[in-house]
Amino acid sequence: MRITDDRYTRDRLRLDLALRLIRHEARTCTIRSWTGLTDDRIRKLYKSYVEHAGHDAVRRHRGKAPRQAAYFLRNMELRLQSATLATLMCSLGLFQPDAGAEPGAFLQLRWGERFCEAYETYLGEFAEPRLGFEHACYLHRALERQAELAIDECLGCGALVVVSAFAARPDTCVFCGEGRLLPPSREALHR
Ligand SMILES: [Zn+2]
Repeated sequence: MRITDDRYTRDRLRLDLALRLIRHEARTCTIRSWTGLTDDRIRKLYKSYVEHAGHDAVRRHRGKAPRQAAYFLRNMELRLQSATLATLMCSLGLFQPDAGAEPGAFLQLRWGERFCEAYETYLGEFAEPRLGFEHACYLHRALERQAELAIDECLGCGALVVVSAFAARPDTCVFCGEGRLLPPSREALHR
């Protein structure tokens, strides 16, 4: 690939990813660190997106980023949704070490695309998704650090579950504990 093509492709990827993040109401600092675009460029993109799509398409202030990991374990529904999202993140390789590449680098852009894919699949799985995009970012960071939250496997059904980093391994999870819920289907993971 020639250098000019390479730059063109990367620029295209950056803009596509930035627009995808704007649609998901990601914060500017998230968009900046994933795409390497300047704040000014992001503002302009945002402005043209709103002008094009209309104000109704971008609902602001939905789901502030959580300040506590406990949010993800607060009740059955949130446990279920967190486990589903974490499973999607695992299956799309979002915890692999190449994610630490510099902002705007090819690897980082591809990683960002896979993150959006995981989040969009999660949105499609629930009638009322309770985790906003910044919740998803928080969940990913927390699971990566394993300081507050960790991924474990249910002893009952083998589904991946999100647990407190200090909790004992669960005997039953939200999937088999209720007896009616199913972990995300294979089709959902490979859609
Ligand atoms: Zn289970």
